[in-house]
Amino acid sequence: MIKLEKPIDIPQILIDKQKEWTDHLLQLVNKYGSYKSIPKDEKDSALKYYRHKDITEPLFNSSYEKCAFCEGMPKDSGNIEVEHFYPKSIYHDKAFEWLNFLPSCRKCNDAKGNHDVGCEPILNPYDSDFDPIIHFEFNLARLKGKTDIAKNTIEVCGLKSRLYDPYSKLIKVFCEYEQDLDEAIEELAKKDTERKKLNQLRKISESIDRIEYLMKPTEKYSYFCTFMITNSSVYLSAKELLKEEYEEVS
Ligand SMILES: [Zn+2]
Repeated sequence: MIKLEKPIDIPQILIDKQKEWTDHLLQLVNKYGSYKSIPKDEKDSALKYYRHKDITEPLFNSSYEKCAFCEGMPKDSGNIEVEHFYPKSIYHDKAFEWLNFLPSCRKCNDAKGNHDVGCEPILNPYDSDFDPIIHFEFNLARLKGKTDIAKNTIEVCGLKSRLYDPYSKLIKVFCEYEQDLDEAIEELAKKDTERKKLNQLRKISESIDRIEYLMKPTEKYSYFCTFMITNSSVYLSAKELLKEEYEEVS
């Protein structure tokens, strides 16, 4: 989970239609006595508007087309859907509220279901004070909550063991990159001219760039990768080495 930000501008379609759509849903709840009792066809027809592309486009862009909870991409964790942080089945008045929408993969959305975050809070990556470092750490491919609310989030979104597999694949990718970097550093000591040394430093720098690409917010599971990479002694010493060498050159 990484910190996310929604565009400040609420989509125009919500400005124009939110009240009308919400009123219609609330009328149906009144008519049938409860949200649950609304016939499926009528419910689907009343709710379909939040899937309008004028809403989904900016929403999905805000999470780099990834799931806001698990950071999975559609091809890994299923299509991204519009999730209601406060479930619409309980908070009907929030069914068309911009701040209540989260991009979520099918797996996280299904796991979260009708969980009432008003009673039992979970983390919202769009919250202004959300900082993943405070809440999450990893033990190999195991996501661990450092706070009660993080532990609850892992439980509610079903993240306990589901991410072992994608995380393990990323560990493998990183091990290969890390080994290349390690070998490139060893090679540096053998370079006997300034020119050869500079060429080798360039190789090390490219190797670091390749590793750091995994940490970009646009990449899947970027928080996991950031944690893994910034805890790698090879990576950290390579960064330090480059800093020292370039300072020496300049
Ligand atoms: Zn997910």
